[in-house]
Amino acid sequence: MQQERTNSNVIENPVPWPNGARCAVAFTFDVDSDSEFQHMNRDTAANNVSTLSWLRYDRVAVPRIVKLYERYNLKQTFFVPGWTAEKYPELVECIVGGGHEIAHHGYLHERPNAMTPDEEEYWFRRATDALVKTTGVRPRGYRSPFYGFSKHTADLLAQEGFTYDSSLMGDDVPYLIRSKSGELIELPVDWSMDDWPQYVINPDLDFTMQPQSPDRAMEVFQAQFDAAWNYGGLWVTVWHPFVSGRLARLARVEKLIEYMMQKGQVWFATLDEISAYTRKLIDDGSWTPNSEQLPQYTGVIPELRSDALTEGRQSQ
Ligand SMILES: [Zn+2]
Repeated sequence: MQQERTNSNVIENPVPWPNGARCAVAFTFDVDSDSEFQHMNRDTAANNVSTLSWLRYDRVAVPRIVKLYERYNLKQTFFVPGWTAEKYPELVECIVGGGHEIAHHGYLHERPNAMTPDEEEYWFRRATDALVKTTGVRPRGYRSPFYGFSKHTADLLAQEGFTYDSSLMGDDVPYLIRSKSGELIELPVDWSMDDWPQYVINPDLDFTMQPQSPDRAMEVFQAQFDAAWNYGGLWVTVWHPFVSGRLARLARVEKLIEYMMQKGQVWFATLDEISAYTRKLIDDGSWTPNSEQLPQYTGVIPELRSDALTEGRQSQ
């Protein structure tokens, strides 16, 4: 017997998911490979053979992941930097061959909020072109490398005709982000839904945390899933194939998929499908999302401007 939803008011506006599903589930993959490492270590990357091999493990992990999802007949979303798509066309072929979505993740995994608007635009377009060239399809979705979404990113996405983003962390269900050039669906994530803090140890990338055991890591993802299922939420998780495609970790992901399937009433979908479904609900008036105008701030808040601080100190 199915449990009744006990806390339906925890999320103020739970989404009426299709076919009576209690939550929507999207495993999403950031196929960074060595793009970021090349970008950040232009002159020294080539001499760092071990770390390159660790990052290029994507070549082993991506086909393994695609096979796993084929066994369960699940289609998922892969965010692929443009350079990665050009450098490893066999990965793109494998992902597209599995029927999955490929979405935008920068060109060399450059951080948008560390660039000028012109530079951001340049790399953004270059990445779109690379994906169009390698997949034959223009991407509709975006995730900022490093979650480095800038003050200008929402505007750029709207101008470039993107329909959704999945970099922000402002809700538990889809919401609208508005910019001066238009609006997009935001499919939010959260650091606790990313495999990086659970597993990554690599001194060359300045991450030296103690990796969690797969069971322990998956407790976090499973708890978030159970809550999404109870409350009508959206479960978007971020996996790096070279991190989570390792044997024991991927085996534990498979157990999680089986747990979800056994629990039932789950809508497994790509982010493109979730975004299109949500858009339809909004357009026909059957569901109202929260929304946020971006950027939240254009600069320093008035209370912290240097003139305000000087005045404040003088009047004390
Ligand atoms: Zn990434």
